[in-house]
Amino acid sequence: MMHKRTYQIFADEYENLADLMEVDRQLILKAREASENAYAPYSKFLVGAAVLLANGEIIKGNNQENADFTDGLCAERVALFYAHATYPNIAVEALAVTAKNSNGLIAGPAQPCGSCRQVLVETESRYKQPIRLILDGAVKIMVLNGADNLLPFAFKPGSLG
Ligand SMILES: [Zn+2]
Repeated sequence: MMHKRTYQIFADEYENLADLMEVDRQLILKAREASENAYAPYSKFLVGAAVLLANGEIIKGNNQENADFTDGLCAERVALFYAHATYPNIAVEALAVTAKNSNGLIAGPAQPCGSCRQVLVETESRYKQPIRLILDGAVKIMVLNGADNLLPFAFKPGSLG
């Protein structure tokens, strides 16, 4: 017996930054600020991330490239790992990510790569709460409540059996 199933993911979409709630708008602005310091001399694709912690701290990150392309790291993981390293017991509540190229802010929404999605899933497992994800863009901004909406069927700590 085979069953065809349909699974749903949920996203809120915005056309204007002004329509987001204040905390999310501020987080996007911090992510944009962080993108200014990205080290992306090879791709010229400047990514910024801002993580909101439960204690109100905002941790910024940006992409860090390397001449040996495989040794770079994404903005989201730079921010998340720094947050874990500095405040290991404080939950992550939200993460905003933005990206710009030589033409400016991308149309969006900025999408975390597969590895960052996996780290987001781990972070949610670690603190036992979903992370609100705010994906910036000039044309469309997307807000997702939880990484399950970005990475369904994820490999989680429980997957180890
Ligand atoms: Zn990534």
